[in-house]
Order: sequence, then C-alpha cells, then structure tokens
Amino acid sequence: MSVTRRTVLASAASLALAAAFTSPARADGTVNVYTYRQPSLINPLFEAFTARTGIQVRAIFADSGLVERVAQEGRNSPADILLTADVGRLVEAADRGLAQPVSSTAILDKVPANLRDGGNLWFGLTMRARVIYASVDRAPITGISYEELADPKWKGKICLRPGNHPYNLGLIAAMIAHKGEAATRDWLKGIKANLAVRPSGNDRSQAKSVFAGECDLALANTYYMGKMLTNEAEPEQQDWAKAVKIVFPASSDFGTHVNISGMMLTANAPNKDNALKLMEFLASDEAQALYANGNFEYPVNPAVPASDLVKSWGSFTPDSLNVSEIARLEPAAAKLVDEVEFND
Ligand code: FE
Repeated sequence: MSVTRRTVLASAASLALAAAFTSPARADGTVNVYTYRQPSLINPLFEAFTARTGIQVRAIFADSGLVERVAQEGRNSPADILLTADVGRLVEAADRGLAQPVSSTAILDKVPANLRDGGNLWFGLTMRARVIYASVDRAPITGISYEELADPKWKGKICLRPGNHPYNLGLIAAMIAHKGEAATRDWLKGIKANLAVRPSGNDRSQAKSVFAGECDLALANTYYMGKMLTNEAEPEQQDWAKAVKIVFPASSDFGTHVNISGMMLTANAPNKDNALKLMEFLASDEAQALYANGNFEYPVNPAVPASDLVKSWGSFTPDSLNVSEIARLEPAAAKLVDEVEFND
C-alpha cells in the first residue's frame, strides 16, 4: 500500500472516530483500537471477532505517533488496545505508564514467555524473521550469517531500508545484545562500506532493487515475500519476489533475528472487558491462523502452523533472546546508526 493511500486512510479513520467518540468514551458494546498494523491485514481479524462476539471494533490506523497520542490523550483517551508492528513501540508505551497488566490464562497459555512482557504489560501476536533476500541469479547462496554482511566480498552488493527504521534497529539491537557495542559499530561500518546504494525505501523496494540489478543481497522481513508473491493488484511485485530467495541468516552466536507484532491493554481502557475479549481472541488458534495465512507471519501460538507458502521457505532457529531486551537496546542501536552515518 502506498504511503499516500495509508495517510488518507489514517485521516479518514481519525475523522470517523472524532465523530463517534464522546469523551471519555463509554463502554457500549465496542472496543477501540489504535493500530500500526495495516487495515488490509487486521480488518479480517476484527470482522471475525465481531461475528463471534457482536462487539464492534473501532480502529485508528497510523504509521507513527500512536504511542504519543495515547500519552497526550491521557485519562480521556478512547484507546483500549494498542497494536504495534514491533516490540520497541510496546516497550516504549509500557515504560511511559500507558499499559496495564493482563493476567488472562487464555493469553498467557498461548504466548511463549520470551515473546511477552515479564509483568504481562504486552504480548507478542506474530513473529517475523529479518532475513536475506538473495538474488536468484547473482547470489545463489544457501547460507549466510549477519556478520558476513560486513565481509568485503559483498562490496557494492547490499541494499536495505534506512538503518533507523524499527525493523533494522531491532536487528542492530540484537547484535549489540550478543556481540557488544564495539563489535556492532564495526559491523555497521562494514555493511555501510558494502552498500550498493544509499539506504532508502521499504522492505519490498529492496526486492525491487535486486530485481532491477542494483544489488544482490537485501535485508527484509519474511512476510513481505508472501505479500509480494500474492499481490494481484500490483503484479510487478510478483516479479520482484521471484528474483530473490529467502536465506535465513544464522551465526555461531545467535540464530535468526525475530521481532514481534503485539498488543497491550491501555492503562485507562474505557472498554476493558471488551478489550480483554479481543486480546484473548487475537491470541486464539482461530485468529493466529488468520495471521498466518493472511499475512504470512509466524504465529506466536505454537499450536498454530505457519502457512504452506511460509513453510516452503524453510526452517530456522529463532534467536532465543527475550524480545524486551531488543527493545531495551534500540536507543543504543539508533545511536550507532547515527555515529557511523549509516544513512548518509
Ligand atoms: Fe511490516
């Protein structure tokens, strides 16, 4: 989805909500969700929830600023649930006192301990691995480590989105956790020296760059491969996807970096009971299967399998680090990105 269209959707949703909410919002068979996740992905889950419970879901969609918005709205915030596309935003919200703990066993039993907050303030819902998209023609590799991306043999061959995007910050934070800051700084300098072009665009556009012959190795999240391969509206994305093969990086120190999308109950949730029902639904086998098959993510719920397409990419050993550690180190990662002038 283009940035322009997403912005329009976000504005339209905001207007609809402004009209719908009185302040403070009242519990009346609805639940209000602020979500960084895209409408095309999350609406089918909301529809399934409404069909099951009769509870209406009102959502505000945005690419940024939702944590800030909940903070500014304070006790009058209509937000019951925050849905994010990375762990950093969850920890940020929890650190600012915007979450309240949830002890529902229907959630705790479904989400592994390393993918949720130790104090039950937030929960992972899906996992995504940050992997290599390798050119089928020019880089027919079968294995690689993240460390090797800094090897001079890849000079002029690598492309990725800006280093300070949360997806890259998560990976850099994991590297800091396992190897320390000094080694991670050197690693970033090595990758920068290997870049084919200045970091820009999003994960899908890196596949497009490989397709166009601009670079041979790209860094991207797993699910975008599925989104591109099945994109009927923009079939050129299928060509980008077919130009690359997913290689799961691993190293002697840690497995493949995974991040989560996740949820939290807001501290002042006006529709708390309904919000808990939605959170329990999102962790359920039914909703986890919708995530797996609709967005090509890995369910956090171990009882639910990945989609057949996702399984066809192969298996990997996820980094066992608690994802909260990744979030904790993201500011340090952002500092290193600035220090080595990664995006310049
Ligand atoms: Fe994404």
